[in-house]
Formats: sequence, C-alpha cells, structure tokens
Amino acid sequence: MNGLGARKARNVHRLIVVGQGAAGLCAAVSAMTSARNIGIDLSVIVIDAAPLAASGGNTRWSPSNIRLQADHHVAPGFVEAILAESGGLADRDYFQQLADQAPAMADWLVSLGVVFQSPPYYLAKGPARIQPMGGGVALLNALLARARELGIEFVYEFSLTQLLSDAGRVVGVLGTDAQGKPQKHHADAVVLACGGFEGNAAMRKKHLGSAAENYRLISQGTAYNDGAGIRAALDIGAQAAGDWRSGHAEPVDPRSQHPAPVVLVYPYGVVVNAQGQRFFDEGAGLMHETWERFAHQMQFELPSQNAYVILDAKLLNIADYARAIRSDVPPISAPTLEALEQALGLPLAALSQTVSAFNAACPDDPPGFDATVKDGLACAPVGQPPKSNWARALDQAPFLAWPLVGALVYTFGGLKTNPNAQVLGDNGPISGLYAAGEITGHFYRVAPNSVAMLRALVFGKIAGEQLVRDFRDSSSL
Ligand SMILES: Cc1cc2nc3c(=O)[nH]c(=O)nc-3n(C[C@H](O)[C@H](O)[C@H](O)COP(=O)(O)OP(=O)(O)OC[C@H]3O[C@@H](n4cnc5c(N)ncnc54)[C@H](O)[C@@H]3O)c2cc1C
Repeated sequence: MNGLGARKARNVHRLIVVGQGAAGLCAAVSAMTSARNIGIDLSVIVIDAAPLAASGGNTRWSPSNIRLQADHHVAPGFVEAILAESGGLADRDYFQQLADQAPAMADWLVSLGVVFQSPPYYLAKGPARIQPMGGGVALLNALLARARELGIEFVYEFSLTQLLSDAGRVVGVLGTDAQGKPQKHHADAVVLACGGFEGNAAMRKKHLGSAAENYRLISQGTAYNDGAGIRAALDIGAQAAGDWRSGHAEPVDPRSQHPAPVVLVYPYGVVVNAQGQRFFDEGAGLMHETWERFAHQMQFELPSQNAYVILDAKLLNIADYARAIRSDVPPISAPTLEALEQALGLPLAALSQTVSAFNAACPDDPPGFDATVKDGLACAPVGQPPKSNWARALDQAPFLAWPLVGALVYTFGGLKTNPNAQVLGDNGPISGLYAAGEITGHFYRVAPNSVAMLRALVFGKIAGEQLVRDFRDSSSL
C-alpha cells in the first residue's frame, strides 16, 4: 500500500478532502486560506473518484440557482419556510447558520472571480435567486484556479472506501486507485464532500425502494456519487440524519441523452399515464412546488414509471415557454387528439375522452391566464383530479406531447452535522471529521428550492474554516 503519510513533514497538518464538487473545493480553498491567515502549515489533497474531465459530480451539470437576493442575503422568512416544508424535522440551527453565513460565502466567491446574475427561473416567479454566470462549471473553474494557486494537490480516480480512525479520531482514508489497487492516505483531518447515494443502485433499492434500482439519473456526474462516504462515516460511529426514503427528482424527457432534459411546461396542459388518464393536479402550485412530487409519482406510483404531458398550440403563445423545455428532442405533434393518442400508442380513444371531459370543465374563454403566477383558473372535471390553476381547454391544433420520466438528482439521507460542519457521533463531534453538501442529511419531505447548491458552498467554506480553528486550538493545548 502506498501511504501519502510517509511524506508528512513535522508540524505540517495534512487535510484530505474527499470530492471535488462545490462543497469539497470550498472546503479545500477556505482551509488553506484560513491556515495561511493564522500561520498554520497545512497541506491539502483533494481526492476524487472520477477522472479529471468528469470530476465535479452534480456541481458540473448544475445550473446552480441559489436562493439568495441580489444583495446576497436570504429573503425574510427563509429559515421558517424551510422548517415548515420539512414538517418541523429540519435542524433550525443548521439553516440559521446557512442564512447567516450565505452573504460572506457569496462575497467570497465574487472575490475569486465568480460573477452572479439574477436569473429568470424557467417560467414561474418564486423566491429571489442568483446564479453564477456559466453555472456549476464556472464555480468549479474559479475554485480550481484558486486551489492551484494555493498549492492544493489533486488525486483523481481514487474512490474512498473507508475512513481510518484511531482512538476516536479520524486519521486518514482508505480507497482504491484507477487500477483498483488499495491505497491509504493519512491525514490529520478529513472533509467528506462526496455526494449522496444517488449513484448507487443497491443503496437506492435498499432505502428508496425496489422501483428506484433502475432510476434514471439526471446527469453523468450524478453516477459518481456512490454513497461510500456516508457508509464509511457510519462505520466509524457517525450518526445518520435526513430523510433516507427520499430524494430530489425532476421530470425529464427519456428520449434525450442530454443532461437534465427537463420538460417543465406541464402546469399549462394535462399529464396522462400509459392508460391516457390524468392522475394529479398539474396546477396545484408553481412548477418548482410540484415537480418533485410529480417525478416521484411517476417513479413510485405508476406501474409503467412514465407519463405524457399533453398541450395544444396555445403553449406557443406563452412568452419564453422554451425556457422551461431543456429536451433537445422535439415534441410529438399531431393535428388531432385522436392522431396524437395513436402516435403515443395510448389505448384507443383514451386520451381524447380524457381531454374532452377536461375541456368541458374548463372555464369558457378564461380571462387572466398568467403562466408566471398561480392565476386561479381552476376546473373540476368529472371523474378526474381537479386542476387548481392554468385550466384552459386544449382545443387548438397542433396538439403536442412530450414523454416524461422522473430522474433522480440527489438523495436526502446522509450524515448528521452541526452548524460548524462537524460530523456528529453519539458523543458529539467526531474528532477530525467534517462534511458538507449532499453527503449531509438535512432535507426532509421535499427539497427546499434552490438550497442544495447554497448549502454545499456555505458549509464547504465553514468546514475549511472550522478544521483550521480545531488545528489551532489543539496545537495551543
Ligand atoms: C442537473 C442538475 C441541476 C441542479 N440544479 C440545481 C439548482 O439550480 N440549484 C441548486 O441549489 N441545486 C441544484 N442541483 C443540485 C446541486 O448542484 C448539488 O446539490 C451540488 O452541486 C452538490 O455539491 P456537492 O459538492 O455536495 O456534491 P457533487 O458536486 O456531486 O460532488 C461530489 C464529488 O465527489 C466525488 N465522489 C463521489 N463518490 C466518491 C468516492 N467514493 N470517492 C471519491 N470521490 C467521490 C464525485 O466524483 C464528485 O466529484 C442540481 C444538480 C444537477 C445534477
């Protein structure tokens, strides 16, 4: 076995960061910066399971909408809204820390060259968000450039399998290299930032249910997040937290091989199952309030695990409608509903009967249709779920359809951490072990919108700062 520990010089603290996404890079750069600021000698190695070109996990593929106002503060009521969405299960102290530290994190990224804009968010209005110009890749590039300037080292194609611990303190990592050979890296501290278990079919099956074994993953990077960091920490006594039976999912076009080919215009039409029947209220809320539940319904409640969104020509009159469609495959188009159901292979007359009953319940010539807010145009078709907003008859050719499946983005179950990004065991923080990003278990029930990237960045930065404080405090004892 190779041991990087053999190279450890006296009085140089060694940090291993596992995972080179947003959380890991923030941890590495903030640790090195903090250490230099207070005169601590630190060497940092970032290890990643992927080869360089594919590294960056979910971050690389993420548009990275971040729920902050243009002034980098959270909106009033941010923490309470997240607690309410979680059914009171979320950790108030953790989310208060997220809110408090978000402005410093965003300012810090700006100082590293990241340019934020206030993006339009698909079609619907909602909470204020900022976005790095260039998305997740721009975050990776800015942080990687700074990391290289600071002399941080990178090891690719190294998969963590175990944490090494001694007398209750984490002292390194064990993993396999590109050739599958075991490698041991000693360290004085380890930051786990290697994502959830979304890329691990066996863990998905165990925790999310058998339907999840063959779940489509939203991007190429998602597949690298194999849950090994979570398992390694649990093995040495870390506590689990978060909702282990769930994860964030989005409706995508299964015909597209592109990353994240979402189709988010379903609130403006109807969605039918493989029998041509509606099965949920497509207008229950703004898209980002319903997309996760809809994706879960396809995956876990529909035997065929797929559905079709049906629209008519009025879609084309909605301003910027194409912004909500990221599939590169055009919709299936037909001059009549009968021709459309034939093209989709739905049972004879099923779709036309569903739409006919839906149309009969829609208000005549409705005023006030507005795709960007809950417009209150509602209907209650006989024998179908109601539609609470955007209810307009589908009666103008051409009729359009996109097939949809649910795609998994990340899982909610993970490690219990405190507001200082320390991993908690039964007796408090596990010495030398920190975690940030998706690997931590802080989401329950639904993913709070545009918070996943925010928490990866904020708690990555906090982890780096905290571990340096811990080095300083232990050196001064
Ligand atoms: C298409 C898409 C759209 C998204 N849109 C948004 C959005 O708009 N807003 C938002 O807030 N969030 C969004 N997200 C989610 C958000 O991007 C992620 O939650 C965030 O990037 C996670 O960062 P992370 O550092 O925790 O993990 P990741 O970025 O996934 O990085 C994990 C790293 O760990 C490595 N790794 C995994 N296992 C191992 C192992 N065993 N050993 C060594 N290395 C390992 C991986 O290769 C990877 O480089 C989106 C995600 C995707 C994929």
